Amino acid sequence: MSLGAHYKEIKKFLELFGTSLVAVTKQQSEEKVDEILALGHRLFGENKVQEAKQRWRDSDRLQKCPDIRLHLIGGLQTNKVKEAVALFDVIETLDSEKLVAALAKEIQKQKKNIECFIQVNTGRELQKNGVMPDVLESLLHSAIQEHGLRVTGLMCIPPVDEDPVPHFILLRNLAKQHGLQHLSMGMSGDYKQAAEQGATFVRVGTALFGERI
Ligand SMILES: *Cc1c(COP(=O)(O)O)cnc(C)c1O
Repeated sequence: MSLGAHYKEIKKFLELFGTSLVAVTKQQSEEKVDEILALGHRLFGENKVQEAKQRWRDSDRLQKCPDIRLHLIGGLQTNKVKEAVALFDVIETLDSEKLVAALAKEIQKQKKNIECFIQVNTGRELQKNGVMPDVLESLLHSAIQEHGLRVTGLMCIPPVDEDPVPHFILLRNLAKQHGLQHLSMGMSGDYKQAAEQGATFVRVGTALFGERI
């Protein structure tokens, strides 16, 4: 099936639930990126700041299509905060006090209107990014009340070897409890379940573009 056919099929499914598609372009070919742009898609996810900068800013794609919106979906180091704030519209991976402080300072400096989601480690996995569910409340307080960040949602990546649905439900309940509008959950293998559970954004790479290069 062609990229166009995959795209239409995924979009058609997501439309039933009002879920937006974040097309994950990391490690995809230039041709495929241009093809999906030609189809009119404008919402993209990248996991690395440097790679995103090359693909979107240095390539002139952002200049040609100023309505492109970029989500950062990978972990952010504080030494990359300046570049990330300059490039992204949504940072989905807020997960520490240190990052909250660094982001707040840089967003003020650049006078940018950036939305943040907090990444929650719903599976309580040791090596994974994201805050543990019981620490969410204090990080939210710090981010919103103390630093004035616009936190509008939550994001999660369920453990690979588990049924993702209980994780999606946990994330949805946490967002509801804290009055947060957005839920970024679901990838190529589970975006349908995520949409059914109320995802406002799914992040899909390989199911759309094929294997990464
Ligand atoms: C790479 C990545 C995705 C997309 O993964 P696919 O399985 O290719 O859909 C989604 N979310 C995050 C955080 C990623 O790093």
